[in-house]
Amino acid sequence: MNIATLLYQSAMRRPDAPAIGHGDEIAYTYAELAGTASAVGRYLEREHDLRPGDRIALAMNNTPHYLAVLFAAWWTGLIVVPMNPRLHRREFEQLVADSGAALCVTTADLSAPETVPCLDVVELCGAAGEAEDTPPPAVVAPEDPAWLFYTSGTTGRSKGATLTHRNLMAATLSALADLGDAADASLLHLTPMSHAGGLFGIVCVARARTNVLPRDGVVDAATLAEALTAFGPVTFFAVPTILRRLLDPKLLPDELIARVRRIYYGGAPTYVDDLRRVVARFGAQRLWQAFGQGESPCTITHLTPEEHLDLPGDGDLMTVGHARTGVQVEVVGPDGEPLPHGEVGEVVVRGDTVMAGYWRDPEATEATLRRGRLHTGDLGRLDSRGRLTLVDRAKDLIISGGSNIYPREIEESLLSHPAVAEAAVVGRPDAEWGELPVAFLVTTTEVTPDELDAHCLNLLARYKRPRDYHFVSALPRNGYGKVRKTELRTRISPQEGPR
Ligand code: AMP
Repeated sequence: MNIATLLYQSAMRRPDAPAIGHGDEIAYTYAELAGTASAVGRYLEREHDLRPGDRIALAMNNTPHYLAVLFAAWWTGLIVVPMNPRLHRREFEQLVADSGAALCVTTADLSAPETVPCLDVVELCGAAGEAEDTPPPAVVAPEDPAWLFYTSGTTGRSKGATLTHRNLMAATLSALADLGDAADASLLHLTPMSHAGGLFGIVCVARARTNVLPRDGVVDAATLAEALTAFGPVTFFAVPTILRRLLDPKLLPDELIARVRRIYYGGAPTYVDDLRRVVARFGAQRLWQAFGQGESPCTITHLTPEEHLDLPGDGDLMTVGHARTGVQVEVVGPDGEPLPHGEVGEVVVRGDTVMAGYWRDPEATEATLRRGRLHTGDLGRLDSRGRLTLVDRAKDLIISGGSNIYPREIEESLLSHPAVAEAAVVGRPDAEWGELPVAFLVTTTEVTPDELDAHCLNLLARYKRPRDYHFVSALPRNGYGKVRKTELRTRISPQEGPR
């Protein structure tokens, strides 16, 4: 079934319901959104000669037209390539080349790729108009690709996870099964729709609820207040950096918290110290954590509101919860065999959410999809109740004197020091030990390496303590807020003497 059918059916069921909110206004009703998506799809076929299976790239900031274009592509069987709007023009051009996109839809505020014909989204929607009599979406096979989800490339080249109509449908149904009453609230977009935001957007469309865009795309106190007042109760997805920002009552005052039904968060590790403050401010009943990746879009495990009541102690890791509905999660050793509970291995996933493969990259596909399972590259352990705890990305693991050190554990310990606001630990090559942990820190008050050492030695085995502390004003992050550890590694040289 074509994933666009979800919009078609919602428009039939609730034609006058607000589909897209912008600021405090309604930008599209469901009938208008479906009519526009269908008309844009036909326009692309007619005027640009696009055919089912052709790729169409999106270099767009969040706009009220984003979902219209996303669904327009599917309506006619095109494959959509949403690109992170924070990428550089040259990076857009790389993704356009890799996907073989024939056309790119843009927003005027971005520097558009120069290697492909581009259409401004406002002009496109204007020229296409709105179908009066909306025909159903094209018939596609469940295995037909729908979305090339480019990974954020924190550990290497960005690859296009090929998500089929079946994958998107499975991820949507799983969300509808797992979100409970939150699926019936509006969805406010604070993160790019090219990533998790767009996936949650489909869920919102399936339920015929309102996708809300802050006015002018700005996330500040005024736009938040406006959207929450006009369209509450709302849910929203936040990456941990945004979650931390939202703790500021100047951005989200107490009286507005009542209008937030659920905060979905994830996409990168949330440190226990941050989570403690988030739970205290918003209440466990408002929190839902998702662990996923582009290769099983946003859908591997979840931590329910109730499970947020059980916060671990200093330096301990928080669980990311249990497998999502319709998804099977295992932890396996190097031989691919499941490990006993409590043992750390690679997290592997089975289910209809798992991508078909990497776009035109059989080698990477073969390395990642083995024996019918997605190898996530994440290391974790399961407990006897099926709860997963992630210890780190396999590629970020530090091996020192033959022992595994998980940077995440050290970061958790450092963050429990009151002076430390942000922490990232990477391995520094060392002739004697192989690698030694080194910390990059953003601090709020002055603190010495000796004080940090003493703090870590209170919480961690001696060999895990960082041998160097680099104090920085900010950690390097990619467009989705993830720390770029590859960049941090280039900043340290093996010559720095151990402390
Ligand atoms: P991406 O495909 O760009 O979304 O990156 C996915 C990766 O982000 C995962 O493989 C994890 O390493 C990390 N990640 C996603 N969600 C979480 C989470 N809730 N907790 C910890 N790490 C996460």
